[in-house]
Amino acid sequence: MKALKNVSIYIALIVGVILLAVLINGVTSAPEMSYNKFVTELIENDNVKKVSVDGNTALVELKEALNNKTLYRVKFYSQDVFESLVLEAESAGKTFDYVADITEVPFIVTLIPYILMAGIVIFFILFMMGQSQGANAKVMNFGKSRARLYTTSKIKFADVAGADEEKEEMAELVSFLKNPKKYADMGARIPKGVLMVGPPGTGKTYLAKAVAGEAEVPFFAISGSDFVEMYVGVGAARVRDLFEQAKKNAPCLIFIDEIDAVGRHRGSGLGGGHDEREQTLNQLLVEMDGFAGKEGIIIIAATNRPDILDPALTRPGRFDRKIVVNVPTLKARDEILKVHARNKPISEDVSLLEVAKITPGFTPADLENLLNEAALLAAREDLDKIEMRHIKEATFRVVVGPEKKSNVMTEKDKRLTAIHETGHAIAVKVASSTDTVDRVSIIPAGYAGGYTAHKPSEDKTYATEKQMIENIIVALGGRAAEELCLGEVSTGASSDLKSANGIAHNMVTKYGMSKKLTNMVFDNEGNEVFIGRSFGSTRNYSEDTAAIIDEEVKTIIDSAYTKVKEILTENMDKLNRIADVLMEKEKIEGEEFEALMAE
Ligand code: ADP
Ligand code: ZN
Repeated sequence: MKALKNVSIYIALIVGVILLAVLINGVTSAPEMSYNKFVTELIENDNVKKVSVDGNTALVELKEALNNKTLYRVKFYSQDVFESLVLEAESAGKTFDYVADITEVPFIVTLIPYILMAGIVIFFILFMMGQSQGANAKVMNFGKSRARLYTTSKIKFADVAGADEEKEEMAELVSFLKNPKKYADMGARIPKGVLMVGPPGTGKTYLAKAVAGEAEVPFFAISGSDFVEMYVGVGAARVRDLFEQAKKNAPCLIFIDEIDAVGRHRGSGLGGGHDEREQTLNQLLVEMDGFAGKEGIIIIAATNRPDILDPALTRPGRFDRKIVVNVPTLKARDEILKVHARNKPISEDVSLLEVAKITPGFTPADLENLLNEAALLAAREDLDKIEMRHIKEATFRVVVGPEKKSNVMTEKDKRLTAIHETGHAIAVKVASSTDTVDRVSIIPAGYAGGYTAHKPSEDKTYATEKQMIENIIVALGGRAAEELCLGEVSTGASSDLKSANGIAHNMVTKYGMSKKLTNMVFDNEGNEVFIGRSFGSTRNYSEDTAAIIDEEVKTIIDSAYTKVKEILTENMDKLNRIADVLMEKEKIEGEEFEALMAE
């Protein structure tokens, strides 16, 4: 690692000198125009006479003066993107001259020897490093470390299928990006950071792009994992750079994929050596606090692991909104398949709804991949249409593809999950005095195979002993149902057990709610069992007391388990019936659940 630091200093020096030279040269007297404004002038108003590119700046001459001036400078991030924009405008019939590189700047030419020399030095150093570690990857990474990020997205909400709830939540972001000033003038609380939570391939990036596309603002994308393998200090510098660029191009959207790579809880992880990541994270927090929101910048971050994020990230004013992106339901899968089948020749005998039915657990990315594989299979047979058998074969390929296996449920898993979740739901219905069932689902979400959502019918500040016991009963409902219906229990209940035990432990040690230790508190901060920080904390009670605590916890758990088995046994026919419906529909909303219970 020492060598790395040294290298980064050299590189920083060399790059610094070159940048300085370019900067000094690049300053002209023309005022700056925002990228957005330029796009409007170029495409909508057709008011551009000449564009001359010089590095990452373009000199723009207007046909009609704007604020009494006809000459402006426009900064941009990537030459490629800029050029494709210009070419697009040209092919759309806009008339202007385009000079790809200003020839009357000999200074650039004089720089070439220096750049060459610097290149040789860098290459040499990296080559030396390569003796001990995978340098090839490093060389390539370094090469692409700048220039990218900036694109304009063509994806619209209409291209996003089956994510109605997510789209609804994002509609507000679009309207804000379209007109940040309106919101600011109204004194409305302006969204700044949004956290998108969901497993890989569920369309987090796609949705973020759709927001940018729908609002017609620039889309900056960067991945958290890009930062962590960076040389020291570079990660933080890139964050700074990113925000600087974003501010210049506001309104715009910044998308940070895999935020957990930088946003991991600070001070966690054994063995240290994380100061680079922490620097990057701190810089990100500083930048987020540094703008008011009225600039019209929205940051969307995506993660599959919200649980390991540093709490500082989710504080108000930072990523204080959360949008959960779920694996699609049957209906959504049908719609997504339709979107991706649009440009593929599909035989009349194929029903996409049937395909949707045989693909529970598939993410949008899986579905796209599925149709692609099917097309390949059909092409291999020299057919001109994709048939159902190709799709079936492709399903198999996607399922057994090594990484996807865990996403997709077998029929047996599906039944187990359905029984388990129905067990929770019936426990809520019968045992809970405060909660009602909101939704029961067997579509995998995050690390869980399914979920049962329930919410209290009124706000409550204190939990009574009775309610805490009810919560334990509900948590144990899943495992009890498995035991009663299938005669065996699975690992699927491990987080349920953890939370049931956590509640019981708190009842005994924090709230004095047990027979033998009534009104006694054994509070040391380590007692938050389910957060898992009890490691290393000290006890303030004896071994004997500890044994009594364990005993009392066990009594609470056992009696709750007996109770929930009673409840489920009494409702056995309903349990089976609802599990069947759940297997077929994959998701049951609260009202329907109530109706099934009332039958
Ligand atoms: P993530 O960022 O969550 O890993 P992506 O956004 O990269 O997932 O999605 C992968 C692909 O799945 C996208 O390229 C897109 O083609 C497809 N996709 C995702 N969501 C949808 C959707 N709602 N409708 C249609 N296609 C989608
Ligand atoms: Zn459960």
